[in-house]
Amino acid sequence: MTDFLPAAKSIDLDLLTQLHDRHQTCRSGTVASYIPELAKMNPDAFSICVATLDGNVMGVGDQSQLFTLQSISKVFTYGMALEDRGREVLLSKVGVEPTGDPFNSIIRLDENSKRPDNPMVNAGAIATTNLIQGKTATDRLNRILTTFKNYAGRDLYVDSSVFTSERTTGHRNRALAHLMRHFEMVDDRLDETLDLYFQQCALLVDCRDLALMAATLANNGINPRTGDRAIESEYVRDLLSVMYTCGMYNFAGEWAYRVGLPAKSGVSGGIIAIVPGKLGIAVFSPPLDARGNSVRGLKVCEDLSTAAKLHLFDRS
Ligand code: GLU
Repeated sequence: MTDFLPAAKSIDLDLLTQLHDRHQTCRSGTVASYIPELAKMNPDAFSICVATLDGNVMGVGDQSQLFTLQSISKVFTYGMALEDRGREVLLSKVGVEPTGDPFNSIIRLDENSKRPDNPMVNAGAIATTNLIQGKTATDRLNRILTTFKNYAGRDLYVDSSVFTSERTTGHRNRALAHLMRHFEMVDDRLDETLDLYFQQCALLVDCRDLALMAATLANNGINPRTGDRAIESEYVRDLLSVMYTCGMYNFAGEWAYRVGLPAKSGVSGGIIAIVPGKLGIAVFSPPLDARGNSVRGLKVCEDLSTAAKLHLFDRS
């Protein structure tokens, strides 16, 4: 597939336009519908954005089309929980092992520790959000909103229809939370935590925001456009490590092999990929493959990585 895309000296608008043209006609995949509101997304929406560490964002396609972050939010709340509690507490509550299982699998809790496998699957993400500090639900939500604002460089808002849609149908996530409560891996603020988790998933972004959020991680935690710090630099490596090994659902191994970048996808069709010290990449296209990754998003990232030699272990 990548054979006829010439090697690129640098990533520029021409290259992004070529990739957009090349994959726009792809018709595979299905828009997520298990959260009823997500089924309304336009399957033809398609955008690619790249943010550089001088704060520039270049992009093609429907760059200002808003969509909800869904699982991509898990990366950033993991960072907050690390800042709030430190590595050791986090590791005692949520592991860092890839599962090879679907994102919503009815959990395997580690036999001894009772931890969910990692913070990128739903169980681990709910346990992570549970660890975010704050006196009240509003305090905790406001802290999440401030952090996400620092990553994106602008205020982000919860899509209340998507939030309500998931809140009323998210029985599986509720079951995961209750199972973890049984094993005392989450505290009594179960409903509050689930609401926060559904709200973080329902935060609205466009592809440009997403590229800047990715570039903030590439820039060691500082938003390259605003100069605001979104996360302490010492924890950036934790986020990138779990993204690399666990970020792409049960495709994480093949993704690491083919694309070779820390990344995270979400069921609304977004993908972020980070080239540490260089770039933040974002793609949005709602149709998903059987594992829950955006079909066009995967193709674009693989082509981009090959053409611009972005694979972290490519020294050829
Ligand atoms: N809010 C979604 C859920 O918990 C996020 C899933 C995803 O994007 O992978 O089911």
